[in-house]
Amino acid sequence: MAIVRLAELLDQPAASAFLRGVVASGRVGTAYLLHGPAGVGKGTAALAFARSLLCERGAAGATAAEADLFAATTPPAPAQPAPADDACGVCRACRKSSDLQHPDLRFLFPVSGDERDLDDTIAETVAAMREDPLYVFAYEKAASHRLSQTRDLIRELAYQPYEAARRVVVLRDADRMREDQYSALLKSIEEPGVTVWVLTSSRVNRLPATIRSRCQRVRFAPLAEETVSRFLVERAGVAEDDAALIAALAGGSLSRALELADSEVEPVELRDRALALLEPAQRGDPAALWKACQTYMNFGRTGREQLRRMIEFHQLWLRDLLRAQAGAPRERLAHRDRETELRRLAATITPTEVRRRLMVLEEALRSIDGNVTADLTLFSTLGRVAGARLGEGEWPGYGHARWDY
Ligand SMILES: [Zn+2]
Repeated sequence: MAIVRLAELLDQPAASAFLRGVVASGRVGTAYLLHGPAGVGKGTAALAFARSLLCERGAAGATAAEADLFAATTPPAPAQPAPADDACGVCRACRKSSDLQHPDLRFLFPVSGDERDLDDTIAETVAAMREDPLYVFAYEKAASHRLSQTRDLIRELAYQPYEAARRVVVLRDADRMREDQYSALLKSIEEPGVTVWVLTSSRVNRLPATIRSRCQRVRFAPLAEETVSRFLVERAGVAEDDAALIAALAGGSLSRALELADSEVEPVELRDRALALLEPAQRGDPAALWKACQTYMNFGRTGREQLRRMIEFHQLWLRDLLRAQAGAPRERLAHRDRETELRRLAATITPTEVRRRLMVLEEALRSIDGNVTADLTLFSTLGRVAGARLGEGEWPGYGHARWDY
């Protein structure tokens, strides 16, 4: 995860313009809440904003030139004067904050695991962020901000900043805290002072209203499919056809796209496995379909997340069918590697039928969150997508299927 400049934020013109306006005006509020879907650049923006607030040649006003004379390495001279609304990127403060080593930048993020290992986990995460410009934060369900970290932070707030005119606290995924942590932080967030709070959240409703109401909210939008696809090709070295499929699956989230691009099994293969499941349903063979569903769900050991992913592949395929029916060019298709098959299918099925199937899948996605039996849901969904009236008097006989769930 590279700390970029505000001007370099990917595809978030409104948020970027707002934050740059704050930097340029020098009228910095006490707390900001960067919110929107996961994986669209809120965390990157929070650190970029922090860096621009700590930059010595920006709003803070001090000069770094003298200190740099004695620095071990001379930074490259800026080609242009430092922008008034962004970090200069070359001063001492900018270099420290890019390395997450600025003493007045406090960066807190949720962690999970054994309490004894948490110091290591935190250090490893920060090291990974420094090393890997494409670092993606992935949390376990129970990940949360560590108590000792917020406690240390609150103690530190009593003191003046070390080097800069202000202190910037970035709380990544601030919705992952306990009640008592919020109440402890609330007092500081309420009081205007030398500390600027930058919170990010993709689950803003989980933040207490008392915290939310004290922050200026900055909204982030899902990224365009083209933006994600271009990033994958240009920055992550993903092949173009794969990038199109991954970007379409990622639904506007760059971090999700990077995770998919990084998965052990190629997305194209996952897609083929998912689509192949429909084949027995189309043949009208309920016994084979039931067996395929149970095998896919690995008799209950396959997680719901994978089931969700599988259904999303079917959705994406049908969306491509609609696009093909509307005469979309190759570049607009997610499944470019199966273009011929797509176009042939598109000619044999009506758009109304495609939409009916999409509705069936939508229902299935909603029911996954409820308390349903996964293999049965899969069985009936694929049956209904294929158009066969499975489940209505045509259930597989005991001789053909295993009923051992
Ligand atoms: Zn700077």
